[in-house]
Amino acid sequence: MLKFVSTGDAGPSASTSTDSVDTHPASASTSTDPEQPASANTVQTSSESRKTVTDPGEVQAASVSTSTTRGVQSAADTSSSDPNRTVAAPPNDPADWPPVLTDFMRTELVRRGPFKPGLDFSFPKDKSRRAFHSGLLQRKLSNGEKIHRSWLTYSIKNNAVYCFCCKLFSTKYNKIIKEGVNDWSNINAILKHHESSPEHTQNMIKWRELDLRLSQGQTLDQIQMTIYEAERKRWRDVLTRLISITQSLAERNLAFRGSSEKLFQPDNGNFLKEVELLAKFDPIMENHLSKIKDGQTHAHYLGQHTQNELIQIVSGKILEAIVTQIRDSKYFSIILDCTPDISHQEQMSIILRSVALRGKPEIKEHFLGFVNVEATTGLNLSTVILNKLNELKISFEDCRGQAFDNGANMKGKNQGLQARLLRRNPSAVFVPCGAHTLNLVIADAAKSSKDAVGFFGHVQKLFTFFSAGTQRWSVLKKHVKITMKSWSDTR
Ligand SMILES: [Zn+2]
Repeated sequence: MLKFVSTGDAGPSASTSTDSVDTHPASASTSTDPEQPASANTVQTSSESRKTVTDPGEVQAASVSTSTTRGVQSAADTSSSDPNRTVAAPPNDPADWPPVLTDFMRTELVRRGPFKPGLDFSFPKDKSRRAFHSGLLQRKLSNGEKIHRSWLTYSIKNNAVYCFCCKLFSTKYNKIIKEGVNDWSNINAILKHHESSPEHTQNMIKWRELDLRLSQGQTLDQIQMTIYEAERKRWRDVLTRLISITQSLAERNLAFRGSSEKLFQPDNGNFLKEVELLAKFDPIMENHLSKIKDGQTHAHYLGQHTQNELIQIVSGKILEAIVTQIRDSKYFSIILDCTPDISHQEQMSIILRSVALRGKPEIKEHFLGFVNVEATTGLNLSTVILNKLNELKISFEDCRGQAFDNGANMKGKNQGLQARLLRRNPSAVFVPCGAHTLNLVIADAAKSSKDAVGFFGHVQKLFTFFSAGTQRWSVLKKHVKITMKSWSDTR
């Protein structure tokens, strides 16, 4: 899943890239990113994340997750497969409706229409053997004509009738709204009285209007929801692209910003350049840029703070995945080294090595990032590394190895980093760096022989002479088939 990208072997090159982005005067001073508050990202974190970005799929999935929206559209579907919907949707029986209806519930109820029991339902009779009957659903006008009482709804729970539209829209007290009417002896008079009240007429109109708008898909809610949905999708699409650009630059360890923060400027850096490139072929990005150009949107998510935030999010997700993997593996070893960056800030690069157990067991080395260090003493380094592990919630008790160079601060028998760590965890066996050891052995061996010192001295003199000019170097290359190297200054 996650692959280790770079182990920070090239200290200088890593720091160069860090500098080219973050200490650039323009990028550090000008802020044209209106949608973001100033972020406290440091040089460290951005270079760190740039180094560790590896898995595009995972990051995308994780960082663009958005909650689903509740609205009229979901209300349209009354299936109870979605647990949220069942909670939000009001019950059918009017006796069970909550005392205060939300807009969502009202919309949902209008969609369903008044509740009527099934045809085979037998209405319970009262003491005088009277009951609700389907004849009540018809209103007889004075001219003998019959019209349907569409507003009348029946509650099985209370064995009572309610006025559907008044229950939906009225805020006043009325028995036919609150408790329901089951005075079957006087029911005809009660219904007649209610349906001729002005209040009821108004609520009927409200109901009919909402019903009509719903059937035409024109409720305010629905229009708003459609706009909102389109907007949400647009931003998601834009952000997905910006995240992809962030990943693509980070994977190659490229600087994000140039000296200009404006689009379509020649020196605006790789991030904006890739945005422009994408906009040439991708309609979504093209649309986004044209909105920015026309001033239709002030939030463009292209500024330096957004870039830093994207880097942070991506790196955070990757670090999370690495830490999970290391915890799964349980045992790990630490590899670290320090080197100053171009601004003379000493930086420690930390790598954890473990055996990944998912699938085929495989040795993995994970670069966790650069950490600024004040002093390179064994004491300070051990504090820094232990703090870092603590911060990542990786237990140092599970450390089974440490590998550093042969510097006195690292391998020192009593005060060195390895000795300090070993005292805390005797299982964390120290293995000095093989390449560095070999280098030291060869250098010491050469220094022990007068002949060898003389030989390498001559070689160095030749190197100094020929490398002083390109013309000299080409003469050397013309006559000698091998190339020359300077003395290694590895200590
Ligand atoms: Zn009514």
